[in-house]
Amino acid sequence: MTVSLDNIRAAAARIAGHIATTPLLRDNELSDALGQAVWLKCEHRQTTGAFKLRGATHAILTRDCRPGVVTASTGNHGRAMAHAARALGVPATVCLSRLVPANKVQAIRDLGAEVRVIGNSQDDAMIEVARAVADERLTEIPPFDDAAVVAGQGTIGLEIGAPDMVLVPLSGGGLAAGIAVAIKALSPATRVIGVTMESGAAMAASIRAGHPVEVVETASLADSLGGGIGLHNRITYPLCRDLLDDVILLTEDEIAAGIRHLGRAGHVVEGAAAVGTGALLAGKVTVRGPTVTILSGGNIDPALHTRLMQEPA
Ligand SMILES: *Cc1c(COP(=O)(O)O)cnc(C)c1O
Repeated sequence: MTVSLDNIRAAAARIAGHIATTPLLRDNELSDALGQAVWLKCEHRQTTGAFKLRGATHAILTRDCRPGVVTASTGNHGRAMAHAARALGVPATVCLSRLVPANKVQAIRDLGAEVRVIGNSQDDAMIEVARAVADERLTEIPPFDDAAVVAGQGTIGLEIGAPDMVLVPLSGGGLAAGIAVAIKALSPATRVIGVTMESGAAMAASIRAGHPVEVVETASLADSLGGGIGLHNRITYPLCRDLLDDVILLTEDEIAAGIRHLGRAGHVVEGAAAVGTGALLAGKVTVRGPTVTILSGGNIDPALHTRLMQEPA
């Protein structure tokens, strides 16, 4: 396998001083309703508001990043890379298109990264990343399809014990692959289930097709789960295909219900982080024992969160 339990243990030792320790909290209401303990792994409380700091920090620590690092992500990966780079004294560049809203651009500048606004699409931003890698010798820190990134995300799998089931938000598969490698090595009987939105779920469609495929992107409350897995995916596709026990797809209403349930318990999470809870509330997974759901991030537009909380359950 491209990523092993030993790689993940080594990653945990390397990143320990650079990331926050996040709690595993019992969801009392869901535990009572389901008759089994449900635990929330609180990565929405991670520094930068999402687990992606683990993988980005590990990738930067394990390679020569002179004269700097670069990515095209404006979401949680971009924030994580910018934060990790600054903390480790490495110059960071984030390439993005003119379509990216001003508040997101400012948030990345506030983390100390150089922002390059290029072209009118994410594709243009990615072309600029490739150019910066070739011409300026910057090091690209990929959001998921990278062994060091997967090992970094997999460190969560060392922190959640040996439950009956783990529910993992699934997009490019770095989080799910890393957690699955750790859990399947430590507790082979534990089911690891990927959860994502119904429309535009590239990993789910790829596993079904038997090879990486492209899907049409649609807007979702789980915006951090959008985007493709790469037609030349090397690491996360095979790991997710081989190690995930199932992939569950949720409607937008089911995701919203997850956000509301967690919000009532004081957990402000983004849609991507609420899919495990949404799957439990919707009865889309069979609960047979203690269950852990990964609250992967908390970076939701506050106005959207307020509006969702006001809608009837
Ligand atoms: C990136 C992200 C995911 C999905 O992670 P992948 O490694 O791309 O599957 C889930 N939740 C949040 C909040 C994220 O930022």
